[in-house]
Amino acid sequence: MGLFPMGDGRFRLIASNPFSKPEKGTEPAIEELQRIYDQRSHIPAHFHDMTWSSWFRINSRMVDVMQKGQIFLGGDSAHIHSPAGGQGMNTGMQDMINLCWKLAMVIKGQAKPELLMTYTPERVAVIKTVLTKTEGLTHAIGSENPIFRSVFNHIAPWIVSTDFVQKNSTERMCQLSLDYRDSPMSTANGHAGSLKPGDRVPDFAVTVLNQEGSVEQEPRPASILELMDPSTFTLFYSNIKDPAKTHATIEGNLGAFHGIIRGHQIAHRGQQDVVFNAKFGSSSSILLVRPDGYIAFSGTEESVPKLAEYCDKWLVAQPLPVNKEENHA
Ligand SMILES: Cc1cc2nc3c(=O)[nH]c(=O)nc-3n(C[C@H](O)[C@H](O)[C@H](O)COP(=O)(O)OP(=O)(O)OC[C@H]3O[C@@H](n4cnc5c(N)ncnc54)[C@H](O)[C@@H]3O)c2cc1C
Repeated sequence: MGLFPMGDGRFRLIASNPFSKPEKGTEPAIEELQRIYDQRSHIPAHFHDMTWSSWFRINSRMVDVMQKGQIFLGGDSAHIHSPAGGQGMNTGMQDMINLCWKLAMVIKGQAKPELLMTYTPERVAVIKTVLTKTEGLTHAIGSENPIFRSVFNHIAPWIVSTDFVQKNSTERMCQLSLDYRDSPMSTANGHAGSLKPGDRVPDFAVTVLNQEGSVEQEPRPASILELMDPSTFTLFYSNIKDPAKTHATIEGNLGAFHGIIRGHQIAHRGQQDVVFNAKFGSSSSILLVRPDGYIAFSGTEESVPKLAEYCDKWLVAQPLPVNKEENHA
């Protein structure tokens, strides 16, 4: 049973294993909720003025295809499971974060329609994991097995301390650690850092050495998230031996994708060099990041022609701007 304060002395109660048998057209009575509360809480309380109550049955189901022609499924229409862990709405939001930039780029003629076919494989893999984990949590919370309950009540609180949960499951429960490493879009061509294609780029402080298309050439502090734009891809390059040559190679190979990809030459900032080197590596690195913040392509300064092939596969070459300075204004 869980009790959630809603303010003004009102509470929301949610409980499993009711005493009566839920039936269609009925709703739980306040007396039943009081009995459940008395059985499961050691703090005396008297319930009154119930405004709403409802039975809900836990479904644990998902589709295996999220796109059929021009129809896309997302949210509860594609997956539904127990509320344990509070993952449902968040998973639906992640569906839309994954889909919307792809739809926008295809509709604007910036990406090939094949890009939309990555929606199903990327999301179905994530949703399967969410369902498996919430089912496990639901069984653990709702189990009536006395041996299991005894273990759960006496040993679990000791193991499952706040620190333990914070350290081991926060990133997963916040859905920050999910990845698309197995996606057909995730392509590796070398790169020494720990970030892999399909990983979400974490935010941390960096120095921008050269922002592509900008007249500003002085190094300046920034954070990774500040440099990304949800309507374009972002190209991060670091530890480049000959920046002018690499810049020219990128211009030559990726010029047709100008406007869809924004490039930044970055380096570590102050004390953050350990984080920077761990993530980006201490040798030359180029990372192409998708508009939703996941890495699409990783490589070194030698990988620019491969990166151009990658862009040709997924993106649509754009007409070159008449005046580059105006394009970046
Ligand atoms: C008890 C409980 C607790 C939960 N707690 C959490 C939590 O802590 N964290 C979390 O992330 N998630 C939680 N969830 C899950 C979350 O509520 C859902 O995942 C989320 O609301 C789904 O959003 P949706 O937009 O996909 O679907 P819905 O919210 O179901 O929206 C679908 C909408 O479509 C409308 N509709 C249906 N048919 C038609 C039609 N033919 N024409 C027009 N409109 C139509 C419906 O009326 C509805 O408004 C909880 C769920 C429950 C039941």
